[in-house]
Amino acid sequence: MHSFSRRDFVISAAAAAAAFGLSGRLSWMASAAAEQAAAKGFHRFKVGDIDVTTVFDGIWERDHDPAFIKNASVDQTKTALRTAGLPDDKITIPFTVTFVTIGGKTVMFDSGTGGQLSPKAGKLAANMAAAGIDAKTISTIIVTHFHPDHIFGLMEKGTNAQVYPNAEIIVPAAEYKWWTDDAIFTKLPEAFHPIAKRVQATLPTWKNLRQIDGAVEALPGIRAIPSYGHTPGHTTFHVASGDAQLFVLADVTNIPAIFARHPDWHATFDGDAAAAEATRRRLFDRVITEKAIMTGYHYGVPGAGRIEKDGDGYAFVPIA
Ligand SMILES: [Zn+2]
Repeated sequence: MHSFSRRDFVISAAAAAAAFGLSGRLSWMASAAAEQAAAKGFHRFKVGDIDVTTVFDGIWERDHDPAFIKNASVDQTKTALRTAGLPDDKITIPFTVTFVTIGGKTVMFDSGTGGQLSPKAGKLAANMAAAGIDAKTISTIIVTHFHPDHIFGLMEKGTNAQVYPNAEIIVPAAEYKWWTDDAIFTKLPEAFHPIAKRVQATLPTWKNLRQIDGAVEALPGIRAIPSYGHTPGHTTFHVASGDAQLFVLADVTNIPAIFARHPDWHATFDGDAAAAEATRRRLFDRVITEKAIMTGYHYGVPGAGRIEKDGDGYAFVPIA
């Protein structure tokens, strides 16, 4: 983390504003805000009466790979990163977990990497402590989908023991069915088979797990919105307090500098790329229409903000 003064930020933001369009300017400011929030490890804000905290788990640095985006070249990807004011030597994917306190209960959305995926991630527990969140008081964990960066934090490394045995764990039924069906091994790329095996060895044995099916209320004040495409059961959650609304979008897009600006680019992570793109446009348009706040799991910190139209794509505007 290099040091970063407010004066540098203001001067450079003005330079960026002159040099780039809306997306570049907003994304650049997002990266500056992210730098400051990442140093702290969390960001807290209100949506209506609800306390929301986003907590940083760390990053995964990926080397460029022509297979990463099916319909964009490495050069185009680097251009998108530079346009957003980001370094283009690697693709940096952050992990950020959203917490809400609602009805006196602390609810966590997804669980971080558990320090089992990237040498630069696994900071969730330390940053939760910094944010004043006691892991033992988490009453519910709502899982958006079963990719390892979202569920490995539920399982101890080596033993697979539950990290949060006293919390209720809510999962989308469509996601559970896909990953626990033995037919998955004939459909899923070989590289994902160990994840499916780990899911099958753990989640079905957990007595504190509850499946929810479709667009239903997960908890009072929290509704599920099926957002299939990234995975067969990927689910977004809508939290409301009066007129104020929060959408926990999870992986409707990966990093905004690339995939909000270019909603038609198909990341290798998206199981059904066409469905994922349609879902992305539908949910971004809904967040804009409803003037809602959203969080994205791969949006860094603060990791929360608004979505705006930007040319033929979208821009992420981080929360002030
Ligand atoms: Zn993810």
